[in-house]
Amino acid sequence: MSSTRTLYTSGWVVTCDDAGAEHESGWLLVEDGVIAAVGGGAEPEADERVDLAGAVVTPGLVNTHHHLYQTLTRARAQEADLFAWLRELYPVWSRIDDEAEYAAARTGLIEAEVQAAHEIGIRIVASRGSMDLGESDGGLPPDELVEDIDVVLADTERLVAELHEADPGARVQIAVAPCSPFSVTKKLMTESATLARQLGLTLHTHLAETVEEEAYCMELYGCTPVEYLTDLDWLGPDVWCAHCVHLSPDDTADFAASKTGVAHCPTSNLRLGAGVAPVRDYLDAGVRVGLGVDGSASNERSDLLNEVKQALLVARGRGGPRALTAREALRLGTRGGAAVLGRDDIGTLEPGRRADFAVWRTDGLELGGADDPVAGLVFSAPHRVDRLVVEGEDVVRDGALVHADEDEIARAHRVHARRFAA
Ligand SMILES: [Zn+2]
Repeated sequence: MSSTRTLYTSGWVVTCDDAGAEHESGWLLVEDGVIAAVGGGAEPEADERVDLAGAVVTPGLVNTHHHLYQTLTRARAQEADLFAWLRELYPVWSRIDDEAEYAAARTGLIEAEVQAAHEIGIRIVASRGSMDLGESDGGLPPDELVEDIDVVLADTERLVAELHEADPGARVQIAVAPCSPFSVTKKLMTESATLARQLGLTLHTHLAETVEEEAYCMELYGCTPVEYLTDLDWLGPDVWCAHCVHLSPDDTADFAASKTGVAHCPTSNLRLGAGVAPVRDYLDAGVRVGLGVDGSASNERSDLLNEVKQALLVARGRGGPRALTAREALRLGTRGGAAVLGRDDIGTLEPGRRADFAVWRTDGLELGGADDPVAGLVFSAPHRVDRLVVEGEDVVRDGALVHADEDEIARAHRVHARRFAA
C-alpha cells in the first residue's frame, strides 16, 4: 500500500516552530494530509512536485473569533459604540431566520456554518452561542432574542453528539459560548462551564471589550468582568475570551497563571472605538493570544491576514516601533490561534502536524522586490491567498476557491443581505 508524497519546493517557508526556523528556498513534504518533513537544501524524493518560487509559505491562519452571519449586516451603526451598535443590530439579527423560533434558527445557523465549511474544505470550531438575560431582567438584548437555559444546554449536547470531533485533525469542533456578562445569567455561565468540562469541550465568551461593560458589571455584579469570571470558576486552559481590551495588570497575571486565552480583534475594537488591547503586556506575561476578525458588522472585510497587520500597527501605536515584530504578529495569527483553540495538530509547519498551509505570492506589484518578503507580506497586507492547503488538499488554487464558485456565493449573499436592508 503506497500513498502519494507531494513536495512543495522553492518557497520561503516560515515554520513558526519553537525556534522560529525559516527556509529561504525551502520545501515541505506532505503525505496522507500530514507534514512528513520540512527543510531547506537537498530535497527528499517525492511522487509529485509543486514549484512555489516567488512565494512565502506560512501555516494556515487560525481565526479565533468571528460571527459569520454578520456579513448580512455590514456598514450599519457607523458611529456607534458597542452597546449602541448592539441595540441597533439585535433587532435586525433577530430576523435572520424569522420563520423558525429562535432556538431552531440558531441551531440551523450552526449546522449551516458547518455545512458551508465542509463544502469549501476548511476546518471550523463552531461556538454554540447563547443569551438568556433579556432586557426585562436587566440584560442588554431584547427579550425575544434570549433562550431558555434548558433549551441551550440540551441543544449544545445534541450538536456535540452530531458534529464534534475530538481527535487530531478534527475538521469540526463545537465550543460552548455563552455570549457575554451583559447578556447571560450567572446560572447559564456556570452550567455552560460544567457541561463543557463534562464533555471535554472548550469555553468561549466576550470579555472586557469596553469601559461601559466594566461599569455594567460593577453595577450588576459589584465586580469587574475578570473578577466575575474568576468567581464563576471560568478561568482555565480550556477557556478563551474575545477582546480583553481592558484587563488590569492583576487580570493579566490571572490570565497567565490560569492559561486562559485571548482572541485579539484589533479592527473591530478600533471600528467601535472600544480601545486597544495591551497585547505586548499579555505576551510578556505569558498569556496565550490569538487573532480574530470578529463579525463582519464591525470588521466589514473579515480578513485575518489584515488582522495580523492591524495587530502589529495597534501594538506599535501603543508601545512604539519595537512593541511587536512582523514575525511575532504572524505567529499570533497562526500558532497563537491554534494554542488558543487548544489545538496542537495545526498552527506550525513541523513533521507530524496536519498539512494546513497558505502560499502567498510576494513577487507581484504590491510587494515585489522586498528583501524580506515575510515582513513585507505583513506590512503590505491585506493579500489574497494564492494557494490554501488543508489536510494536504487544495482549497484555494491561483487565488480561487477549488470547491465552490465565488461569484455564485457573492450573488446569493447579496440577495439575502437585501432582505435585511435598513
Ligand atoms: Zn464578537
